[in-house]
Amino acid sequence: MADVYTMGLDVGSTASKCVILKNGTKIAGSAVIAAGTGTSGPKRARSEALAAAKITMNEIQKVTATGYGRNTVEGADAVVSELSCHAIGIHAIFPEVRTLIDLGGQDAKAIRVTENGRLDGFVMNDKCAAGTGRFLDVMARVLELDVSELAAKSAMAESVVNISSTCTVFAESEVISQLSNNVDICDLVAGIHRSVAVRTANLVRRLGIKEPVAISGGVALNSGVVKALEEELGLEIRVSPLAQLNGAYGAAVHAFGQRDRSDKGTVPLSGKRTGKEEIQ
Ligand code: ADP
Repeated sequence: MADVYTMGLDVGSTASKCVILKNGTKIAGSAVIAAGTGTSGPKRARSEALAAAKITMNEIQKVTATGYGRNTVEGADAVVSELSCHAIGIHAIFPEVRTLIDLGGQDAKAIRVTENGRLDGFVMNDKCAAGTGRFLDVMARVLELDVSELAAKSAMAESVVNISSTCTVFAESEVISQLSNNVDICDLVAGIHRSVAVRTANLVRRLGIKEPVAISGGVALNSGVVKALEEELGLEIRVSPLAQLNGAYGAAVHAFGQRDRSDKGTVPLSGKRTGKEEIQ
C-alpha cells in the first residue's frame, strides 16, 4: 500500500504551524513560522514542512486547517476549530490527559478532553493579553530579551518580584519602574512568570481540574511559566513534546481520519473488479 500523507495547518494569531504526517502517526515534516494569520506565515510554514518531508503538495491526500485564521486557508479539505484539534493532538500524544492548557500568542484556553480524545468543554481568555504569549512578548521586549531567554533567567531567581497590575499596559509600566530601581532581572522575570501562572490557574479552576494535566502552545516552550503554573496549581503538568505544534498535529491526525479509505486498486464506480485490479 502506498504511504498516505496528510497535512495539518494551524494558522494562529501570532505563529503559523504545519505538520505533515505519514500514515497518520509518523511526523514526516513540520514547521513553525513566527508570523500568523494575514501574513505570508501560513504559506511559508506549508512550504517548509513540505521541504522537510521531501514531498510536494500533490502527494498530500488531505489537508485540515485550524487556528484563528483557519478560514483563510485555500485548498483545505476540512476546517476544524483549534479546540477540537488540540484535543485530538494531545490525545494522540498523552491519551490519559483530561485537561489541556493551551497558552498561545493572544489567548489562553483550558480544554477538557474525553477518553476518546474529544472536546468536552473549555474556558477561554481571548479578551485580554494578560496571561498570554503577548504579555510575555511585551515584557521580554522591555527587558531587551528574547522570549526564549526568559526561562533561563527565572531559573536563576533568588526571590519573586510581585507584579501587582493585571493589565499588560500597567504591568509593563510596573516592570519599567522596577528596572529603574535596579531590581534583579531574574527575580523580575520570575515575577512575570508568576503573574501568567496566577491568571492561567484561575482559568483552569473555572473549568475544573481533572488530572492528568498537560500544556501546549508556544508559551509551553517556556519552562519557567510551566514551573510557576505547577506551583500555583500544586500538581505536575505534562509538557507536550510537540508543544507549539499540538494544534497542527491534531489537524493532521484529523485529516488522516478523512483519507480516502479505498485501497489503491480501487473498484471503479461502475463495472466489476478484474483479477488484475485486485492484485494492484
Ligand atoms: P498562536 O497559535 O496563538 O499564534 P502560539 O501557540 O504559536 O500562538 O504561541 C505563540 C507564543 O509563544 C508567542 O507569543 C511567544 O510568547 C511564545 N513563544 C514562541 N516561541 C517561544 C520560545 N522559544 N520560548 C518561549 N516562548 C515562546
